[in-house]
Amino acid sequence: MSSDDPDLPDSDGAQSGGVIAETMADAAPQSAEPLTRNKYSESDLRLRFTSCGRCGFFIAAYRIDHNQEYLAAIEEIEAGWLTLPWHPDMRELVNKSYGCPIDITAYFFEGSCPECRRTFSYAELNKNQPALFLIKI
Ligand SMILES: [Zn+2]
Repeated sequence: MSSDDPDLPDSDGAQSGGVIAETMADAAPQSAEPLTRNKYSESDLRLRFTSCGRCGFFIAAYRIDHNQEYLAAIEEIEAGWLTLPWHPDMRELVNKSYGCPIDITAYFFEGSCPECRRTFSYAELNKNQPALFLIKI
């Protein structure tokens, strides 16, 4: 009987080893997920936008007034588009940065930076929802 006692911890050890193996198998896709979901950091964005004077000015000015929304938008970048919530003060900012006035009655506008050709869009999808400003990163 006393020889069986040392076997008990061994069988427990084998079980926990199995759990560890399963945990490691689970860990592989989990560790890959943040890499695919959170592709861009704030410094990535800063580098991309400051390479152009106009785009650097636009993003710096947006951040001064709407930093929280800017940081949240970085988390939601999809297919290379940064989607910023639209604010009425942005009409003047877009005009100052890119020299294109967005008409107050427009519900859709597409433009590009005269210097680096970065494309952007203003879209009012629904009267009941805030408009969006999408800019390629
Ligand atoms: Zn630009």
